[in-house]
Amino acid sequence: MNLSFILLMSCTGKENTSTEEPYNSSSKETIVVVVAHPDDETAIGPVMAKYSKDNDVYLIIVTDGSYGVTDHAGIPEGDDLIKIRNIEAACSCEALGAHPPIHLGLIDGLGFYARGNFYEQMSTMKDKLHEQFKKLQPTIVLTFGPDGDTGHHDHRLVGNMTTEVLLSSADYKEIDLYHYGWTKDQSDKFPDWNLGFVAKEYLDTAISFDEEDEQRAFASIRCHKSQYPQEELDAWVELESRDDSNILYFRKAVRSMERRTAF
Ligand SMILES: [Zn+2]
Repeated sequence: MNLSFILLMSCTGKENTSTEEPYNSSSKETIVVVVAHPDDETAIGPVMAKYSKDNDVYLIIVTDGSYGVTDHAGIPEGDDLIKIRNIEAACSCEALGAHPPIHLGLIDGLGFYARGNFYEQMSTMKDKLHEQFKKLQPTIVLTFGPDGDTGHHDHRLVGNMTTEVLLSSADYKEIDLYHYGWTKDQSDKFPDWNLGFVAKEYLDTAISFDEEDEQRAFASIRCHKSQYPQEELDAWVELESRDDSNILYFRKAVRSMERRTAF
């Protein structure tokens, strides 16, 4: 088992290049990634590919992606689009070596644009996340931070609800929750995507990945043909290929802690 989470900075702010092994290194981890739409997993594809080799990696997709209408694909909103995006998500998980995607099937847009009742959707999402966490028994959960990756309201809501659910029950106290976050430099690489970012000082976990992980992530990106025209997929892969820093950042959002009595 090879979960090497590198602690970037110690709490004193001093550079610390030691490798943290916070988990039981003798058994497989169950890592659950929670996202809003089929294709959101591409943000952390290389990390999913890395850990899929020796662990169980699951992808939960909260909405049906039915709002992802694009000019180049010309597929109207509705069941056909949902079906195609489900196939694309399955293709992506296979490329990454993860288990087939788990679809919670909420209506894309989560209460916006008059697409379903917002409060109903929130309580459905909560119930379904509890159900999946109880079933999958994750040891690690990865989801959006407050920036929501691209700032999309569904991303913000899904990251928020995943965090709320995990904080709501002591049954989850052994689960480590990480929010993923872009550095300013990473965000600047994609000026058209309006990516949120987090100051590097707060991103306490850096995960490196190798060439093979990256190639599998590229294959997963290329599954999402209904969402990106070919030339956009090519440009995306090309841009990531040229960046050889090969590292993604996370912030540990929930960890079990001893209660402190005073600051
Ligand atoms: Zn999305």
